[in-house]
Amino acid sequence: MARLLARDDNIMPAITLNIGNTRLAAERGDITRERVAAIVNAANVGLRGGGGVDGAIHHAGGPSITAECRKIGRCPTGKAVITGGGKLRAQWVIHAVGPIYSGLPSDAAELGSAYRESLLRASEVGARSIAFPSISTGAYGYPIKQAAPIALDTVTEFAQANPAAFELIRFVLFSDADYSVYFAEFTRRGARRE
Ligand code: ADP
Repeated sequence: MARLLARDDNIMPAITLNIGNTRLAAERGDITRERVAAIVNAANVGLRGGGGVDGAIHHAGGPSITAECRKIGRCPTGKAVITGGGKLRAQWVIHAVGPIYSGLPSDAAELGSAYRESLLRASEVGARSIAFPSISTGAYGYPIKQAAPIALDTVTEFAQANPAAFELIRFVLFSDADYSVYFAEFTRRGARRE
């Protein structure tokens, strides 16, 4: 058992980067299990739930999240709305709508906006810890090697501009391949292993 844990730790160490008082972190995992104040959902414009992380969050959080989403109605691309966390450990779910990848320059602006808007929704309710999935890089087709630096740039700028807003901003990657992209991006920015 000890050997197994040690081996897992070697393969998938969490990685962190401090931006003032805010700790940025990346880890491999399932976002529905996160113990943070707010988790972010990669939602669609109609807030209808669906596959991928969206389906997993609606399933794990239960019907109250779906009902709140129905009441809100829609959320434009690049924006984010907030609901309660239902049965999740997180108190809040922030439903952010990333772009469907097209290859146009507007993709990057919309993706950055989805991250920034999520941080704004969380800070409005006083959530000081937040976990993000990799928005738009599943069904929406955004190449994760392009998306990861946009995600990191956006949250870094936010943490620099709002140093008291968050204690922890964590990226939760669902596959080894996605995590290794974030790991490399964190390392490039001077991060250390935990
Ligand atoms: P999008 O439509 O925005 O591309 P997807 O849900 O298809 O959203 O994919 C976004 C990312 O979320 C993908 O990298 C996918 O692997 C990941 N993902 C799926 N389920 C989970 C989960 N339970 N926790 C964290 N990430 C997840």
